[in-house]
Amino acid sequence: MGFLLKCPNCGERTVYEYRSGGEETDRPQPGDPAQDWTRYFYLRRNAAGDQREWWYHALGCRRWLIAVRDTVTNQVKETYWPGEAQA
Ligand SMILES: [Zn+2]
Repeated sequence: MGFLLKCPNCGERTVYEYRSGGEETDRPQPGDPAQDWTRYFYLRRNAAGDQREWWYHALGCRRWLIAVRDTVTNQVKETYWPGEAQA
């Protein structure tokens, strides 16, 4: 099922130009409790609704970006570079 994804660099492109990197998770810091790491590696929220995901613009500028996608409607609500504050 195709949908549009807006690259902050290239603009709106079809999802077929991208490669999905999966859900973005907050990586624990060294020294954090083991259960934090277990959660990081093994659990995914698979939320129904907004989800932050990694996308790689393989057929464009070849950069990784973050997209907020509604997993129910497949609508991408916003995209931004990793490390940028979420609008
Ligand atoms: Zn791009």
